[in-house]
Formats: sequence, C-alpha cells, structure tokens
Amino acid sequence: MKTALCCVAALCLLQVSLLSQGRAFFGAPPDDHNPWAVHDRNRPAPPVVDPGDKPGGPPSDAIVLFDGTQASFEKWHHEKPEDERESNWVVSNGALMPQKGAGSLLSKEVFGDCQLHLEWAAPEEASGKGQGRGNSGVFLMGMVEVQILDNYNNPSYADGMAGAIYAVMPPAVNALKPPGEWQSYDIIFRRPVVRDGVVLDPGFFTVLVNGVVVQDSTPINGGGAYRKRMPLDRAFPEAGPLELQDHGDPVRFRNIWVRPLRPRELDGGTDGRLSKENTMRKREAIADTVLDQASGESGLPRALLLMESLIYKFDKLVLSDAERLISEYLGEWPTLTAAEQQAEERAIKELHRALKYLETHGFVAPEYRLGQEVEAIARQNDWIR
Ligand code: MG
Repeated sequence: MKTALCCVAALCLLQVSLLSQGRAFFGAPPDDHNPWAVHDRNRPAPPVVDPGDKPGGPPSDAIVLFDGTQASFEKWHHEKPEDERESNWVVSNGALMPQKGAGSLLSKEVFGDCQLHLEWAAPEEASGKGQGRGNSGVFLMGMVEVQILDNYNNPSYADGMAGAIYAVMPPAVNALKPPGEWQSYDIIFRRPVVRDGVVLDPGFFTVLVNGVVVQDSTPINGGGAYRKRMPLDRAFPEAGPLELQDHGDPVRFRNIWVRPLRPRELDGGTDGRLSKENTMRKREAIADTVLDQASGESGLPRALLLMESLIYKFDKLVLSDAERLISEYLGEWPTLTAAEQQAEERAIKELHRALKYLETHGFVAPEYRLGQEVEAIARQNDWIR
C-alpha cells in the first residue's frame, strides 16, 4: 500500500485535481432514455454565444440575411424568373421592399428548424382595408406562412391577422403598433416531421410580435393556405428557403437573421426522447471516454473513474478492478499516521459519496462492504454526519 500512499501529499494533490472537477455521482443516474445522470458533469457544455448589443440585434452565431446593405440583398433571389416578373425587390434607405409585380423573394440558403427575427413596416399613410392593407408574410421553408398585415385598427378574419399562422391559428392578441412604425417578429419554428405517412411531430410555431407572445407552441398540422386546410400528414422536406411574400403592398423589411435550432431527438417516436438503442450507444461512448481517462490514473483516482464509468455501462470486471484498488487503499489505512489520515479527508469523502451513489442506485448490493468500511472511517473522523 505504500505504493498507493507512498507520498500522501502527492496523492492528495492528484485527487484534489480530479475531485474538484465534480465528476459524476450527482443526481438520478442514466436510464433507458437519458444517457446522462442529472447534473452530470460529463454532459457537454453549450457553446458560448454573444447575444449582441441590443434586443433584436443578431447574436454572434446568427446567419444575417439582411442588414440594410445591398451586399446582404445578394443572399436572396426572386422566385419568378426575370422574364416572368414585372419588377424587382429593391433596397431603399436600408430596407428591403417589393415593387408591384415582383413576386416572392426567397433566401438562397435553406433552413429547417430555426429561430427567425425580422422587422417590417407598413406605409404610414394606410390605404386599403382588411387583407388589402400592408399585406405580406414570411413563409418558413416556403411552405407555411406567418402573416404580416397592417391590422392596426383594421379588422380582418382572425386566422389571417398579423402573427397568425395563416389559415391555421389567429394570434392570441393583436400587439401591432400604428402603420409606419417598425414591428418586430421573433419566430421559433419546428418543422412537421412525417415519416412513411406517420406524423411523428406536427411541427410548432412560437411567435412574438413586438415582444408579445402571440403563438405559443402552436401545432402546424400541415399548415394552411388561402381558403385551404392542408392534410395533417403533408410531407415537409428537411429544409427550405425563407420566403417573403409580395402581396402587392409596399411593406418594408429590415434586420433579418436566422439561427438554426439544435436537432430534436425523434428516433424514439413522438415524445422527443432518445430511443433505448441510441441511449445505450451514447452511454457506452461516455463510459469509454471515462475509462480512457482512468487508464491514465492509478490508485484512488483510477478507482473513482472506474466507478464513474459503471453508471453508463456496467461491467463486472471494471467493478472488480475498482474494488481491488479501494481494498488496497483501505488496507494501508491503519498504517498511516494521524496526520496522514487527516490529509485524506477529501479523498475519503469522495470515495464515500461514490460508493453510496452506487449502492443507492443499485449498482452494487445493499450494505456494500467497501461502502460500510469507508463510512466507518468517515464517521470516526467526524467527516460525515
Ligand atoms: Mg400574407
């Protein structure tokens, strides 16, 4: 054991560096659909994003599709070929705007699930009424429209108002500003997923108009069109262009950016959970990574990592290896001086926590002998209560 504790101070330093990472042994362990424990430090940290200077500004990971410049207009193209349209969309005073007969404008890049921000304004001098006043729209994937309409003191049918999922669901409230003012849309879009005619996910829209929620996870269910309801099992591709509608009204656009959303886990069905098969695959990969780390350690730090791997992939041989290392460590315990034992406080506490975790969650038998031995040491020293 003097091999394990030949230099107690050095061993302790090693353990402190390992233990201070937090490691596993926290909340509920991995299961058939969750590869990670609750609060698991092996779970990858999310990337850092700079949210931008002011609300509505593009975050650092956004794809800016229009920033007021002619250069960003290059990220779009007209839906109709040149010889079939009467005019073009133009950039004027930092805004993007259709001319009469220009037809729709499509982003060159395609998107599936995404967060979209855009701002639009209808002419200050409102003309026309109902659907004929400040009408435009943004179609996600070119397939389902979030309506743009100057509804300020301008009644129209509910499922065609600004912020409506057109022909599907009216906005919860009318949060428009007067015509001439810029209106902001923040849209979170999850495309419908239909596989072999089976609707795995109806797709969802969450929409904020001027910061006010008007759609809250509204199911798309195939979407709609003018006077039409689409079939629930309407197939959507993986991705499609954003489409700005030309409805014959001079609606201006600015500050358009998109962020693709992280993929959903749909392989287990409609509940958004991982399948058992893929969960187990992930758990094995995590266990292998932890075992790789263990191979670079010895003594108690190695034992802790071996035990950590067990919560992802249980392996009797790995447990035996950990038990051997812990037994060696405990075998040396009576030979340590009082000061040397005191220096092991943190190591004993961590070992106790790990063994208790394995016992509590059924990885080892109840009243586990090694656990009881470590607990006795911890209690004698008043390190646990
Ligand atoms: Mg429209």
